[in-house]
Amino acid sequence: MRKLFSLLFCFFLLNLHAQEPEKLNASEIFQKIKKLNFLGSVLYIGAHPDDENTRLISYFSNEKHTRTAYLSLTRGDGGQNLIGPELREQLGLIRTQELLAAREIDGGEQFFTRANDFGYSKTPEETLEIWDKEKVLSDVVWIIRNFKPDVIINRFDHRTPGSTHGHHTSSALLSLEAFDAAANPNKFPDQLNYTNTHQPKRAYFNTSPWFYGGEEAFEEASKDRFISFDTGVYFPLLGLSNPEISSLSRSQHQSQGFGSTGSRGKQMEYLEPIKGDTIRSQDVFEGIDTSWNKLEGGAEISKILHQVEENYSFTNPAASLPQLLEAYKLIQKLPNEHWRELKTKEIKNIIYASTGLFLEAVASQPSATPKDSVTIKLEAINRSDFPVILSSIELSPNDSKVQPETELKNNENWQNKIALKVPEKTSYTTPYWLEEESKNGMYIVKNRELIGLPETPGLTKAVFKLTFKDVSLNFEKPIVYKYNDAVFGETYQPFEVIPKISLAFEEDVIIFENEESKKVSVKLTSGKPNIQGEVSLTAGDNWKIKPENHKFQLQQKGSSVTVTFEVTPPKEQEETFIIPSATINGEEFSEKLISIDYKHIPKQNLVVPAKLKVARLEIEKKGDLVGYIEGAGDVVPESLQQIGYRVNKLNVASISQASLQKYDAVVLGIRALNTVEALKYKQQALFDYVKNGGNLIVQYNTNRGLVTENISPFPLELSRDRVTDETAEVRFLAEDHPILNFPNKITEKDFENWVQERGLYFPDSWSEDFTPILSMNDKNETPKNGSLMVAKYGEGYFIYTGLSFFRQFPVGVAGAYRLFANMISIGK
Ligand SMILES: [Zn+2]
Repeated sequence: MRKLFSLLFCFFLLNLHAQEPEKLNASEIFQKIKKLNFLGSVLYIGAHPDDENTRLISYFSNEKHTRTAYLSLTRGDGGQNLIGPELREQLGLIRTQELLAAREIDGGEQFFTRANDFGYSKTPEETLEIWDKEKVLSDVVWIIRNFKPDVIINRFDHRTPGSTHGHHTSSALLSLEAFDAAANPNKFPDQLNYTNTHQPKRAYFNTSPWFYGGEEAFEEASKDRFISFDTGVYFPLLGLSNPEISSLSRSQHQSQGFGSTGSRGKQMEYLEPIKGDTIRSQDVFEGIDTSWNKLEGGAEISKILHQVEENYSFTNPAASLPQLLEAYKLIQKLPNEHWRELKTKEIKNIIYASTGLFLEAVASQPSATPKDSVTIKLEAINRSDFPVILSSIELSPNDSKVQPETELKNNENWQNKIALKVPEKTSYTTPYWLEEESKNGMYIVKNRELIGLPETPGLTKAVFKLTFKDVSLNFEKPIVYKYNDAVFGETYQPFEVIPKISLAFEEDVIIFENEESKKVSVKLTSGKPNIQGEVSLTAGDNWKIKPENHKFQLQQKGSSVTVTFEVTPPKEQEETFIIPSATINGEEFSEKLISIDYKHIPKQNLVVPAKLKVARLEIEKKGDLVGYIEGAGDVVPESLQQIGYRVNKLNVASISQASLQKYDAVVLGIRALNTVEALKYKQQALFDYVKNGGNLIVQYNTNRGLVTENISPFPLELSRDRVTDETAEVRFLAEDHPILNFPNKITEKDFENWVQERGLYFPDSWSEDFTPILSMNDKNETPKNGSLMVAKYGEGYFIYTGLSFFRQFPVGVAGAYRLFANMISIGK
C-alpha cells in the first residue's frame, strides 16, 4: 500500500501534462541534473488557483534547484469564467489544469485538498464552519507528511482575519496548525499506515505591497523583520529572466484573464519568519543540509553526480550515461524510502532525456468503452550511441505484452502494434474528486491515496522495459491519442474510457410556469458502434411522463439521436429532478459525458449522473417583450424565456430611446456597466426610455472600473457590501411596495433554497428618490439595505439590484423567478 501511494505522489514529477511528451533539450537536462543534486524542498500554501507567487516558485525551482510545490486548498470552483460557460465543478477542473500548465512552465509541482471553493467568505471562522475543518487540516498534514518540505511559505497572513477572503486567512491558519500536527504521531494516526511524520524546519509569510495597500506604503514600512532577496535573476541556459518565466506561468490562468507581461531586472521578495527555527539569513535553507551527505549512502552518489555536473557535455548529454547509471544503482540502495523513490524518478528522467529516447503508445481511437479492444501503436527510438535493448512492452490495465528483445540503434525507429482489451470493470475517465457529489463545502474522495493529487492518475499505460548494459529500467507512458490538426498540427489528447451510451438533456433546468405540459428532450450519444436499447425518464409521483419509453438504435460510435417526452407538472409548486435511464442488453446507463476542450490545457473528460432540474412555479407575470443587454455573461435571457417572456438581445451601439419603446422592460446583464464600453454613451437613452414609461433593471456591477459614473438617474453609490450567507434572513423594509405584491405576493418562502450567496456589491447610499425594499446581513454585521432599490423616474421605474439572480436561475430557485417577474411587471 505504502509503495503504491508514494508512486502515485511522485507521478506528476515526470508527467505533468500526461498526454504530451516532454522533450528536454541539453540545457533543460543540465537544470534537472542540478536539481538532482539539491535535496531541499519548499511548499507554498494558498487558497485558490492564482494566489500563488509564480515568481517565487520559479525562483526556488530554477535558481535554487529546489523541489517546489504549490498547495492550493481549493480548485477555484467558486469564481467566474472569462473564457467559456463552465462554472462550479467544471470551472474547478479547468483551473486545476491551468495550475498544472503553470507548474509545467515554472518547474513546480501541484497539490490540492478536498476543500470546495464555495464562493466568497468574509472571515476564517465562517470558512472553517462551511468546510469540514478537521478534514482540510488532515489533508494539509497528509500533503506535508508525503511531500516532506523543509520550508513552508504562506501566501497569506494568519494574523489579519477579515482583511481578505476568509479562505485566504484560513489557508495560513491551517498551514501553521499543520506545521506542528504533521510531526505529531497522535494527530491523524491512520495516515501513518501509509506515510510517516514530518517536521518542517521553518515557515514564512510571503508579504508584499498588496498587504500594505500599495507600493508606496510598503516602501515606507519597516522591513526589519523580513528576509529579502532578489528574484529578478537571469538564466542564460534558458534565455529568460525569472520574472519572464513567472509571467509565462501566470498567463496560463486564462479562465481568470491573468495574462501577464514579463519584466527584467531586480525583483525583491520578502519573507517574514513566523514559525520553526527562524534563522535570520537571506538563504531560507541556512542550517539545513540540502546535499546528498544528509543521506546514509549519499556521499558516494554525490561524488559521481557532481562529476556529471562538472563534466556535462551540452553537445552530447549521452556522455554522462555511464556515470548516471552508476549513480542510479547506488540510489537503489538508499535505505531512506522517500529519497530513494524521489531521486529514482528524477534520475530515470535524466537518463531518458540524455539517451534521446522517445517512447510512445498511441491508441487508434480517442476513447473506448469497457470490454472494447483497441489497437495501440508503439514507438521506440534511441538517439545516442549508447547501446540500449528494448526488452518488453506491457500494457496496463490488461497485461498484453510484446518482447522484442531488440537493440535500439542510434536513430533507428522501432514500431509495433498491440491490442489493448479494456477490462469490464475499468472505471470511466473522470476526475476522482467529482465521482461523488460534494457535500458541505468538501469533495468526497473514497480512495484516500488519491487525496492531494492534482488529477486522476492515467488509467491506461504502457510500461517499456529497457536494458542499459547491466541496468534494467521501466519507463511508464500513458496511452494517448493524437491526430494531425490542419491548423495546429500534431495534437495530443488523453485516451479515455467512456460509457457505452451517454445521456444529456438540452437544458439544466426547465421551469413550468403553469399546469401545461412541456416537451423534454434527451440526447443519446453512443460510445461504441451498433448499440440498441430503450430509454425512459423518472421523476416524482406527481409528475406525469409520456411515453413510458423510447427504443433507440445507433450504428456508429459517436452518433446521436434525440428522443422527446411529454412532461406534465403537478398543480402545486414543486421542485424535483428528472433522471434518464438507458438499458442496453440488461445493462443500465444514466451518465452524462462532458468534454472540456481548450487550447491551453489538455482535453478533459467528465462523467457525471445525468439529471434535469424541473420546477413547477406558481408565477404570474405582466408584460411580454424584454430587451437584454449582455454584460459579463449570465443566463437571464434563457431563464426569462423559460417563464414565457420573449427576449431580444440588444446591440448597444444601435440603442436609441425610440428603439427601446416597444420593450416592457430592459435588463442589463451582470457587470454590463463594467464591461460594455459603449454603454457610456447610451445611459441617457436608457434613462429617457424610463422617463417615458419604460422599466430598466440593472443587475450588479463592481464599484471599481465602471465605464461611466452616470449609472442611475438619481444619486446611487455602489459599495462592496455583500451577503455571502445564502440562508441569511431577508427582512421586508417596504412590505406594501408593488414589487413585493404584484403580480406575485413575495414571502419569506421565496428566499428559500438560494445558493452560494444572497448578493453582492450593494449600493450603500442613495437619494430619497429610491425605496430600499429588502434588508439582510451576514452574521455579526450591520443590516445591508441596498440589495434591491426601486425609483420611480418620470412615467417608469429604475431598479438596481445586487441580488444574485444569475446564480439562482441556473438551478431553478422558484422565489428568484417570482421576484424577477415582479420587477418586470412593475407599473403594468
Ligand atoms: Zn484567492
